[in-house]
Amino acid sequence: MKRWIKKSRYPLLFLLATASIVLWKESQKLPNGTFTMHFFDVGQGDATMVETPSGAKMLIDGGPPSAIVEQLGRVLPFWDRSIDVVVFTHPQLDHIGGLPDVFERYEVKRVIMAYAPYRLAAYEELLEIIEHQHIPVTLARPDVVIDFGDGVVAQILHPTNRAAERIVESDINETSVILRIAYGETSLLAVGDAGFETENALIASGAPIDADILKVGHHGSKYSSSLRFLKAVTPRITAIEVGRNNRYGHPTPEALDRIAAVGAAVFRTDRDGTITIASDGHVVWRAADGACMLHIFCKQRPQILFSE
Ligand SMILES: [Zn+2]
Repeated sequence: MKRWIKKSRYPLLFLLATASIVLWKESQKLPNGTFTMHFFDVGQGDATMVETPSGAKMLIDGGPPSAIVEQLGRVLPFWDRSIDVVVFTHPQLDHIGGLPDVFERYEVKRVIMAYAPYRLAAYEELLEIIEHQHIPVTLARPDVVIDFGDGVVAQILHPTNRAAERIVESDINETSVILRIAYGETSLLAVGDAGFETENALIASGAPIDADILKVGHHGSKYSSSLRFLKAVTPRITAIEVGRNNRYGHPTPEALDRIAAVGAAVFRTDRDGTITIASDGHVVWRAADGACMLHIFCKQRPQILFSE
């Protein structure tokens, strides 16, 4: 990491601030008691957003270019033009390609990133936008906790300093920012494109990876979602963000078999479109789709998935 910083051309780095706890004090809306997770259909790529009961929004990745803004417009009211936190898990195009449009259309209040070295024009463009808009950046490390003040707490579990230092460009997936977000009894683990190496490191570190809902690693690659990892996470529900007929063969039968072996339900954006799952802290349900008004034009009606 240090060596790379010296060579860095990005003055942005000097704005990087690490913080052990980021307290979110800007939540102004009245709590509605619902924690909502959107797994967006952005084609082959990842884009997930959580909305907290007080209305704070955290977007994790923005998918490939040109899909995410339309998706956000479907779930957010047209006057709502702010996003409290944007996390990007790692700087590959299927995760950050849509983010420049997000920063153009929405006021982003904070960025959380691992700052992995990667040569990609879209990444450089993104860093320039962040710098130009003077957006505070928090370096993703396992001591970072985001407490939204309304019961939702997000904890960064990865990358560790060691993982960030050891990374090489060809292995960029293993720098993926991994977060566990909890509200009451409900928890979501979002693992970016992390593979077996990171999964094993998380288990060995004793990080709190147990979660009800798992955003499956690397679009269901056969090199992610080991049985050992799935048994440690014990998800009831898995969400795979993946493009229709993608050229990588994602999700792979190997990953799907392992998920089936732990008995978790599978939602896939290539088949199900955008998936919205909500929780009041105990009961978890699949919410009606964004185009649903007064339950008249609903493709997807609310459906209870589990409760605890
Ligand atoms: Zn990816």
